[in-house]
Amino acid sequence: MANQRIICEHCDRVYEKVTLAKHQKALCTRCAGVIQRYNGLSVQQRLALTITAAVLWTFANFYPVMSISLQGLKNSATLWDSVVALSLGPITFIALVAAISIIIAPVFQLLLLIWVLSYALTGRRSPAFKLCMRWLEALRPWSMLEVCLLGAMVAVFKLAGMLDVIPGTGLFALAALALLLIRIAGRDVRDLWDSV
Ligand SMILES: [Zn+2]
Repeated sequence: MANQRIICEHCDRVYEKVTLAKHQKALCTRCAGVIQRYNGLSVQQRLALTITAAVLWTFANFYPVMSISLQGLKNSATLWDSVVALSLGPITFIALVAAISIIIAPVFQLLLLIWVLSYALTGRRSPAFKLCMRWLEALRPWSMLEVCLLGAMVAVFKLAGMLDVIPGTGLFALAALALLLIRIAGRDVRDLWDSV
């Protein structure tokens, strides 16, 4: 059942999969692109990190990313508030893209991972395994939390000169979530094809 072939995504050359040791990576002999990287995560560890990420997602979405005060007036904004604010302006399309890339895509990635990994934990393929794996690939480019994090940090620093800005719980959760997602939903989720 396990497919031990791997295709270079840069030039389509086919290789047999090899077992890598720590810090090793396999390069394509034709184009020198990276085809395999050592991944130290077991299914249990990945699942544990995914559940942690789901908790962080909740914090990032329901707690303010920052609070701003000016002459006694206070205001705070969550990620959702920023999407709503965008949708009320003249650039509703951007609001949609923002909602997908910072809220919807990450939550779908996490749900798919939890689904696939909890079955993998018992050595089985989840129902709709292939579909889930394809969606995990398809969602990756849409998930742009790190871009959002950068934007939020720039906003905090820029506004700090003019207003009293307090980074909120949401911002810290967002930072941790962005890093975790890169680790757990990166290209190496493909390894699940072989491990279950
Ligand atoms: Zn290649």
